[in-house]
Amino acid sequence: MGKILVVIEHDHGQPKKVALATVSFARQVAARRGDSIEFAVLGSGCAGVAEALTGYGATAVHVADNAALAHPVAAVWAKVVSDLAKAIGATAVAAAATSLGKDGLPRVAVRLAAGMASDVVALVDTKAGIAFRRPMWAGNLLGDVVIDTPVQVISVRASAFDVAAPTGGASPVQAFAASVDAGRAAARFVSFEGTASSRPDLNEATIVVSGGRGLKPERGGFKVIEPLADVLGAAIGASRAAVDDGYAPNDYQIGQTGKVVAPQLYLAIAISGAVQHLAGMKNSKVIVAINTRDDEPIFKVADYGLQGDAFVVVPELVQKLKALRS
Ligand SMILES: Cc1cc2nc3c(=O)[nH]c(=O)nc-3n(C[C@H](O)[C@H](O)[C@H](O)COP(=O)(O)OP(=O)(O)OC[C@H]3O[C@@H](n4cnc5c(N)ncnc54)[C@H](O)[C@@H]3O)c2cc1C
Repeated sequence: MGKILVVIEHDHGQPKKVALATVSFARQVAARRGDSIEFAVLGSGCAGVAEALTGYGATAVHVADNAALAHPVAAVWAKVVSDLAKAIGATAVAAAATSLGKDGLPRVAVRLAAGMASDVVALVDTKAGIAFRRPMWAGNLLGDVVIDTPVQVISVRASAFDVAAPTGGASPVQAFAASVDAGRAAARFVSFEGTASSRPDLNEATIVVSGGRGLKPERGGFKVIEPLADVLGAAIGASRAAVDDGYAPNDYQIGQTGKVVAPQLYLAIAISGAVQHLAGMKNSKVIVAINTRDDEPIFKVADYGLQGDAFVVVPELVQKLKALRS
């Protein structure tokens, strides 16, 4: 029987959905191996996060509360996580494959001399134990990884797992006195320039309205999809071509080299559906494509398709949605 340490990313005093999806992953592993689950919360003034995690089935919630952890820097974060994993004798460390998880977990693996599986989307039972299934080649292949080191490190593709619900029971909170030497890290936090937006975070949104290279700035660009996102309470995403051409900011990018999302509803507007884009959204529950052409690859994954000029049909759609709402 082992011990899985789940590192919980949080925002505004609450665990992020991606972290709770990682808890679901850990529950699946624990159910197969009889492992216990413990949580790690790193940050500054993050006692509220630990409280919010009561009832999620962890036998302990370890809180590393330190001013130097207010803004996560991968090298610093990884040292604290690996020190904690060693201190509690964790046999597995898991976190969501977010920017921080992707940057920090390989460092944790090195520190723990652990094998690692990245971006895991499912578990597979094999004679050698659990294999961790992960997409390769932009999702065209699925690899099953068996880790045979005593400690395992896993980054989890959150969109492949349900957001965990509380199951009841107490989760004792324990302070972890982290030894943090941010000054020695090669990278350091300088400043954070967040995008002020009333829209939901792309990773957390239940609806995503995405735009592609067809949204030419000379015709209004991404402004045409903003009212649609507003009326639906959706986050805005973009294809890489739209980002590369400067139509949308970099943090909107969805796909192989961007964010991976799986919302309830994904609207792909003026996006052709290249394999690298599909890698970031094809697990969305319902996909709607709007495109002037009817033979683009996006229609192969779409549940609903609308052939038309986005600059004509999107404003009409907004009018109709507003009329429905009123
Ligand atoms: C290593 C690598 C990694 C990559 N990673 C990513 C990634 O993470 N994410 C990603 O998205 N791409 C990625 N790409 C790029 C990818 O291959 C495609 O080039 C890109 O996804 C195309 O974006 P697009 O669909 O917006 O543009 P296009 O392929 O140019 O398609 C534009 C679409 O808009 C339609 N259109 C035009 N005008 C209108 C209109 N008025 N109304 C409605 N429809 C209209 C057109 O019919 C067309 O289907 C990557 C490529 C490589 C090589």
